[in-house]
Amino acid sequence: MGTELYDLVIVGGGPAGLSAGIYAMRAALNTVLVEKGMPGGQVALTKDVENYPGIEAIGGFELCEKFLNHAKGYGLEMREAEVTSVAPGVDYHEVILGDGTTLHTHAVILAAGGTARKLSIPGETENFGKGVSYCATCDGFFFRNKTVVVIGGGDTALEDALYLSKICARVYLVHRRDEFRGSRILQQRVCAEPRITTVLNSVATDILADAQGVTGVKLKNVQTNAVQQVDADGVFIFVGFLPNNSLIPAGVKMNATGYVVTDEKCETNLPGIFAVGDLRQKYANQIVLAAADGCVAALAAAHYVEGCKAAAVCQRPE
Ligand code: NAP
Repeated sequence: MGTELYDLVIVGGGPAGLSAGIYAMRAALNTVLVEKGMPGGQVALTKDVENYPGIEAIGGFELCEKFLNHAKGYGLEMREAEVTSVAPGVDYHEVILGDGTTLHTHAVILAAGGTARKLSIPGETENFGKGVSYCATCDGFFFRNKTVVVIGGGDTALEDALYLSKICARVYLVHRRDEFRGSRILQQRVCAEPRITTVLNSVATDILADAQGVTGVKLKNVQTNAVQQVDADGVFIFVGFLPNNSLIPAGVKMNATGYVVTDEKCETNLPGIFAVGDLRQKYANQIVLAAADGCVAALAAAHYVEGCKAAAVCQRPE
């Protein structure tokens, strides 16, 4: 397979990667964005986005399409491929694709996002797709007028419990503490929704199923140790995300939970390697922050690439 040369390779096509693509094209960097699946990332799976400044309400998929079209409008090269490794180098970094192609590049922006965290309880893996789901907008439709259990206490769990309450007959929202982590406004909406029953201080210990799929969830109260069984047709698990850090090259600094540590330019401790969005250690994960990361990293990458090229010219023999 061949070798190709770029100023910048962006790995991942969610809001952070696409925003980086927009800014990179505006900075006239020779850029390619590599994405193994459909561009959009986690946001594409979100039903409604109500906190992207300037847009009062928009569907997650629709917002992603806007990012994508904006980037394509600047002529961003998009490549559908799996990146198998990223190898830092001195003159160039290498991004290796599944088909064996090597992309040589001055700068790399890693924007691979995160993946839903699993509960790792009996019945979870076996019943994935048979009542266990990590995406309400993808699977909620299958539970029309049925009973579901939602597990988690963050913004995703609250938002998706509200979404499911419009479809399902009953939603049990199970959280391990006595107060939710998610935003006040979502908590108020959950409290006001008669189809949602909250079950606090409780964890799911088993997902119960028969040959057709999920039949219920066993819950344990963490304060009293009392066990109860909730009959349900589906279980939606929203207990956070894990950063997709498998491509992070050796030597790049990560924190104890696997998020990449960067400076304010989103640059890692390896020059020319940047990390943005849900992959990067920061105070909160929001679409607007992912987009901001993409902007900062692309501007910093442009500066870095300029420096590389200037150095190459200086080193050229007379
Ligand atoms: P999150 O904020 O990390 O919340 C995860 C929730 O799962 C927490 O309530 C946590 O409980 C619970 N949890 C974790 N591990 C668990 C386990 N093993 N068993 C039971 N419960 C467990 O994750 P998220 O809700 O997916 O949100 C991720 C980020 O995206 C956040 O920054 C969030 O603000 C953002 N987001 C924003 C919006 C929005 O603004 N519209 C929508 C979705 C997501 P504890 O609270 O006890 O730790």
